[in-house]
Amino acid sequence: MVKKLTVISGKGGTGKTTFTSSFVALAENAVIADCDVDAADMHLILQPEISETYDFYGLDVASIDRELCTGCGTCISSCKFAAIGPELVVDTYKCEGCGVCEYICPMDAVSMLAKKAGEYYCSNTRFGPLVHAKLGVGEEASGKLVSDVRHRASELAEQNSKDMILIDGPPGTGCAVIAAITGTDMVLVVTEPTKSGIHDLERVVQVAKHFRIPVAVCINKCDINEQISESINDYCEDNGIPVLGMLPYDDVVIEAMVAGKTVVEYSDGKISEDIRSVWDEIMNVLFRQEKKDLVKLVQ
Ligand code: SF4
Ligand code: SF4
Repeated sequence: MVKKLTVISGKGGTGKTTFTSSFVALAENAVIADCDVDAADMHLILQPEISETYDFYGLDVASIDRELCTGCGTCISSCKFAAIGPELVVDTYKCEGCGVCEYICPMDAVSMLAKKAGEYYCSNTRFGPLVHAKLGVGEEASGKLVSDVRHRASELAEQNSKDMILIDGPPGTGCAVIAAITGTDMVLVVTEPTKSGIHDLERVVQVAKHFRIPVAVCINKCDINEQISESINDYCEDNGIPVLGMLPYDDVVIEAMVAGKTVVEYSDGKISEDIRSVWDEIMNVLFRQEKKDLVKLVQ
């Protein structure tokens, strides 16, 4: 059975990619799924060689057949998103694909057409196969793209007898996050000791709780505010959430990024030891189950 781990954070900039990329280096038989589709950055470290490219189609958008259209204007006044201009041209960035104009057009002049909204790729990296994506500028439907990336990653895991899918999730708590964590075996939340960090943590834990997915936490840069780190620890303890690691700020993280390497490749120092320790804890939970009781569903 292929195990699935998703690493998320309440917002960007908590160091999620620092952890995920190092986990990728430590995983022995995994497919990597970069589901941070709005701002993918793992490729900067993993330097993938693309082997397959797929078009991604998001929402259908309206298209008006000028041969059939009589110019009655009903569709213009009916569109709640002001997506149809006076020249009867559909602004595909404003069109939400609701289909109202197609429904009300007396001439059947409107059709809903699939619109390419991005691409996703299968690539080879020095750590194994990677599925990643690029959403077009201003495009939505990132949750659907995350689902496509995960689906292809599952196929690759099956085809290549991998035992794990390591998912780098998007920030926030929106539909893309839900698509990245649904049906996974464990969610690791990377947080940082700031006031917004603890608030964001609570929000993502609520999402994981709703979907009944076991959740664990890692506090990054724990020494930048020890008091808030303590509050995060208390919150986790009160909610039965294991804290798998508390990592202090370390310049080595930036140096590794600049060198285009994962932290565990770049350094054998304390920060790498700490990341390895978090990874061992995750492996215990996912495969050895020695600490299964640690990862509880949040009630
Ligand atoms: S409702 Fe149909 S016929 Fe009327 S302007 Fe729109 S597309 Fe043309
Ligand atoms: S599909 Fe909906 S949002 Fe798009 S142009 Fe038609 S009415 Fe407007």
